[in-house]
Amino acid sequence: MRVAIIGGGPAGLMAAETLATHSHSRESGNPVRSPSCNQMVDLDSRLRGNDGEIRIDLYDAMPSVGRKFLLAGKGGLNLTHSEEREAFLSRYGSRRANIEPLLDAFGADDLRTWAEGLGIETFVGSSGRVFPREMKAAPLLRAWLHRLREAGVNFHMRHRWLGWDVTQEPVAQASSLRLFFTTPAGDKTIEADAVILALGGGSWAKLGSNGAWVPLLQQHGIDIAPLKPANCGFDIAWSEHFRSRFAGQPLKTVVASCLDAEGNEIHRQGECVITETGIEGSLIYALAAPLRDRIEAEGSARLQLDLAPGKSLERVTAEVAHPRGSRSLSSHLQSRVGITGVKAGLLREVLGPETDPAKLATAIKALPLQLIAPRPLDEAISTAGGVRFEALDEHLMLRDLPGVYCAGEMLDWEAPTGGYLLTACFASGRAAGLGVLSSAGISPALQPQHFPRVRGGLTRHGGHVQAAQFRQRRRDPRHLGGFVAALAHPGGGNVRAVGFQDDGVQR
Ligand SMILES: Cc1cc2nc3c(=O)[nH]c(=O)nc-3n(C[C@H](O)[C@H](O)[C@H](O)COP(=O)(O)OP(=O)(O)OC[C@H]3O[C@@H](n4cnc5c(N)ncnc54)[C@H](O)[C@@H]3O)c2cc1C
Repeated sequence: MRVAIIGGGPAGLMAAETLATHSHSRESGNPVRSPSCNQMVDLDSRLRGNDGEIRIDLYDAMPSVGRKFLLAGKGGLNLTHSEEREAFLSRYGSRRANIEPLLDAFGADDLRTWAEGLGIETFVGSSGRVFPREMKAAPLLRAWLHRLREAGVNFHMRHRWLGWDVTQEPVAQASSLRLFFTTPAGDKTIEADAVILALGGGSWAKLGSNGAWVPLLQQHGIDIAPLKPANCGFDIAWSEHFRSRFAGQPLKTVVASCLDAEGNEIHRQGECVITETGIEGSLIYALAAPLRDRIEAEGSARLQLDLAPGKSLERVTAEVAHPRGSRSLSSHLQSRVGITGVKAGLLREVLGPETDPAKLATAIKALPLQLIAPRPLDEAISTAGGVRFEALDEHLMLRDLPGVYCAGEMLDWEAPTGGYLLTACFASGRAAGLGVLSSAGISPALQPQHFPRVRGGLTRHGGHVQAAQFRQRRRDPRHLGGFVAALAHPGGGNVRAVGFQDDGVQR
């Protein structure tokens, strides 16, 4: 079986790993590698394309894979989040029901275990976000690519997919999928039995994901929600005076609020940055979806800022009304309420030369900003819209194009920053890989999630997978147990995995 994966971001790479991991399991005697348990096994040459086996080819338009992933590493690489399941799932909003089964199969804890399997230790930051200890993506990507190459995944860079070759028969009825690529060596048609598309969203086109796949799927009747910026900044019509003085300045510790789709007020505390054209930053990204949708519906959206969180309106009113004597209004606001710098500038930008204490206090606690447009899609951290889940079956295969699977940010879901994006990309890549295996009648090999509260790694010793490493799960000291997995000698026998927990019961 020939599987072509197009797109070498986190989703495509995880699809490749899943195929490489599990594709051995149909045969007896072949070793199995589990991404979550990091078992190191001998390579199996049959994976590389001999008859009856899976050949995995990964194509990417760029000279190297994982470019956006590496960029995410510049911000510390927020891999996932440590919050409890309900809160985590709620981040996917109206697409929660679609993402939930993907995360149940490969969620935040699995992702951390998987990263550790690559030698990348993770930690939970004060916000609950999970990062690699090194706060970088490059070491993880390097180790991962090494493992994928070892597992037989074939990488083809500078291969830009341009659609299907339908000169012989329509894609939906074709016995094999004929993929059309342009490469520096000329155009190529490549045949595959299954295709996993992991082409990313439509932002940061210079890193590879440009959304050019949308018409390629639409012309085959695939239902695609329009691509929109998510986790994006917004335009505000600043005065020239304010722009020239405050663009680039951070606005620290404010509470922002806006209305959600149902008209309920939502609040988030954090930081943002004043820009030449408006406002951006993690606080704004957290509210970007409802703000964007309101602008789309009504032409503009109102964002309210509390410039003095922690102080009640009554207190701020009393402080501002306090006699200021000969002091200027700005030094009065600074000394009584801590409003200074960019916060004072914002107040003046919105209120003008207002001196009425009640009006000033009200504005300090709820400063209204009118957002007139989201920043363009290319600037966004992520993309909303994409292939609708209704066009996919439970294995993420396109119902109208059998054999074609989709994964990652190109699917129609969105989530705030906080590690939710990468987690769902990894999980959907894995689901698409498992989908291909299932269509080929290959049942997934060792299921690491059968051992949810234990961790372990295996080492290779003299051709045998032999040793187990025990590690306590830091976040749950009640379950100190180890994990022992024994794999049969690569030469013969079945794969066997055994787990023990503290209670001594074999699982
Ligand atoms: C600045 C920034 C910081 C971020 N930080 C974080 C973070 O800390 N945590 C987090 O969870 N998320 C973060 N994200 C989002 C995260 O990086 C993306 O959600 C994730 O990379 C999407 O993975 P993907 O595999 O779906 O697509 P991508 O990573 O976009 O990969 C898609 C791949 O497909 C290839 N491709 C596209 N079209 C074609 C074609 N026609 N032919 C061949 N190849 C093609 C591209 O070259 C690319 O390599 C960040 C994003 C940005 C922009």
